[in-house]
Amino acid sequence: MTNGASAWICVTCGNEFSPAAAPPAECLICVDERQHVPAEGQQWVRLDDPGHNDRALAVDEIAPGLFSLCLSPTVGIGQRAFFVKTPAGNVLWEPPGFVGAPLLDWIAEHGGVSAIASSHPHLVGASVSLSHLLGNVPVYFNRADSRWITREDSVIEPWSGRHVVTEGVELVQCGGHFPGSSVLLLTGADRPGAILTGDTLMVGADRRSVSFMRSYPNLIPLPERLVRGIADTVDALPFDRIHGGFPGHDITENGREVVRFSADRYIGWITDVIRDPDEPG
Ligand SMILES: [Zn+2]
Ligand SMILES: [Zn+2]
Repeated sequence: MTNGASAWICVTCGNEFSPAAAPPAECLICVDERQHVPAEGQQWVRLDDPGHNDRALAVDEIAPGLFSLCLSPTVGIGQRAFFVKTPAGNVLWEPPGFVGAPLLDWIAEHGGVSAIASSHPHLVGASVSLSHLLGNVPVYFNRADSRWITREDSVIEPWSGRHVVTEGVELVQCGGHFPGSSVLLLTGADRPGAILTGDTLMVGADRRSVSFMRSYPNLIPLPERLVRGIADTVDALPFDRIHGGFPGHDITENGREVVRFSADRYIGWITDVIRDPDEPG
């Protein structure tokens, strides 16, 4: 634990910053072109602020041993966290900027965690503070994105390419949204193959397609080269299911075919190969 003060949380993105006397002048995540500062300006809250901690936790086991953890009201970007239960140790994926009792108590009741990881710097939340509260477990952060670490700490473990977090749970770097953007591959005899995708692949509202963007809030697309890179990397993985970063973003079958079709469609549009049939000429 730190001595006394708790971390600063950016209200817009939910990422934590060092527990200094004052917060930084700006949030390096939110001033980037992939994010945004709200019209009312930058806002900060202490992680242990009683108002910030007044949130309820809803847990849903969406597949065997895979639990979604959602706070109400949401924090920051509002992603759902995942708790991946395995015999070799549990993994916390994309935690919120929150360390309140509902979350910590639930994790303790379910065996704690042996590692924390995220798909990319937008969905890191209070990973460092959570690690300190959960036994200083490693927080995996892709080396390509290290300049976007908002709170340096010795619990952060850099990785690249592919990294086995625990048996049946593997980080796979795909690039695109960030150069280090990744998915978490879940395998094993007791669970269907799945990828947890954050913003690396965004599950469509139709739950039959995915998309790929440099920025979702500001709608900046990716080039063909990077979309192909994501699709080719994912195509080599053994999975059927896709679980995105937000509630309801679940594709429960044919996940690899969905990614291939979606990448081909995306590239068809950005290269002007696909045309709307109603377009004149
Ligand atoms: Zn921010
Ligand atoms: Zn993002």
